Amino acid sequence: MAVNTSLVSINPQQFIQFLKQNNIHRFSLVYDKKADTVIVSNPLLQELADFVNNDKRDFMQHEGMLFQVNEKYDVLFGAFIHKTNRGQSSGGLRFWHYATLEDFMRDGMRLSKGMTRKNALANLWWGGGKGIMIHNPANDKNDAKMREELYKDYGRFTTSIKGCYITAEDVGTCEEDMANVFSQTRFTTCIPATVGGSGNPSSATALGVVHGMEAALDFLNMGKLEGKTIAVQGMGHVAEPMIGYLFERHVAKIIAVDINQSLINEVKEKYIDKNLETQLVDIKDSSILFEECDILAPCATGAILNRDTIPKIKAKIVCGASNNQLQDSKIDGQALADRDITYVPDFLVNRMGIVNCADEQSGYIDNDPYFYRHLDQDYEFSVFKTAKRVLEQSKASGETPADVAIKLADQLSLENNPIYGHRGQKIIETLVKNQWHNNK
Ligand code: NAD
Repeated sequence: MAVNTSLVSINPQQFIQFLKQNNIHRFSLVYDKKADTVIVSNPLLQELADFVNNDKRDFMQHEGMLFQVNEKYDVLFGAFIHKTNRGQSSGGLRFWHYATLEDFMRDGMRLSKGMTRKNALANLWWGGGKGIMIHNPANDKNDAKMREELYKDYGRFTTSIKGCYITAEDVGTCEEDMANVFSQTRFTTCIPATVGGSGNPSSATALGVVHGMEAALDFLNMGKLEGKTIAVQGMGHVAEPMIGYLFERHVAKIIAVDINQSLINEVKEKYIDKNLETQLVDIKDSSILFEECDILAPCATGAILNRDTIPKIKAKIVCGASNNQLQDSKIDGQALADRDITYVPDFLVNRMGIVNCADEQSGYIDNDPYFYRHLDQDYEFSVFKTAKRVLEQSKASGETPADVAIKLADQLSLENNPIYGHRGQKIIETLVKNQWHNNK
């Protein structure tokens, strides 16, 4: 491929071929604060630095972005490190496909920034980061041998970057994959319980979302969950226990949809004696968002709150687990406010997954206060209290809840870790000084 071809617009497989032809196994994009610019490790990739430097949407002075190719399976690994003031950057490892390199870069920047905000708003002493492995469509995603080798290699990659990024489970990655990552690096959380980890975080996430709903109801003087109707998009790992927590709180009815019939059957079976209405939908069918209900809980995918869907939503409250529900946080946040729909920011209420694994290194005790305080309405940074603070500030200032939460999170994200200071940044500087990109 000619060097002057637009690198960001090509597909990841073409980009990997370009890297291989030029003997590039690793490269980095690192933000130089003094010069206020992103420096790329290899001049052949200057266009990527230009793309990031000129981007006004997703780039927010990310401290570092580190990449490596798995040459056997033609898979690109990324570690996106946004801010490490509060601690090492932490966030899950996504195994996903992308049409272009730009889509991949944007997803990594957006998701890592989101993790900085989620961790800061939860008052966790972690920074924000995200890992991505790009699925190569030529491979079978379910090939067990390939998965084992890829996740082990990602583990070695994580070890090589010396702890500026701590990986975890995310979309496309399962517990077994995490065990493979853990076999090669200590810089991971969300490892299986059998080796001392905290296991699957979804039930904890579900409970946090329910607390967010309770805060919104309280804010609107709508009482408790008892007697309410909830519409749920997606019936997966988070939604299934969430449905249980909602019935425990005596909601009147839950309407839930999924694209997977066997999953629907399993959930239905579990709540057989409850008022649970379910429906199999096509992946493009978003009619659940327009159900008559008190609360809409998006628990499937992101970007579902947008100019097409918002005008048709009937719920008073939107509060769910999905990441990045607003397609555009400014425009769509405002559109919801204009329709008098109370939106509880996703990164505020879906924090319990990361809270669940945040203290894996500190050991386990029953009723761990470092976990349960997030569900304690009196704790300053609990889901309930933070959600109410955000909604009240939003009402007082006229800013949208998303804007208020982002502002608060961004302030908190600049606080330095009380023990280690801004150490993640120093780790990245060390990698650059020691020419990490030239080591195999
Ligand atoms: P999951 O994959 O187990 O569940 C998602 C479900 O949504 C699946 O059953 C899928 O079939 C269904 N789905 C996909 N597209 C759909 C559509 N268009 N209409 C209806 N159903 C659809 O994922 P999960 O772990 O339950 O997570 C749900 C969301 O919450 C994701 O966006 C995830 O990123 C986010 N989240 C999860 C956690 C966690 O602890 N698992 C933590 C934070 C955020």
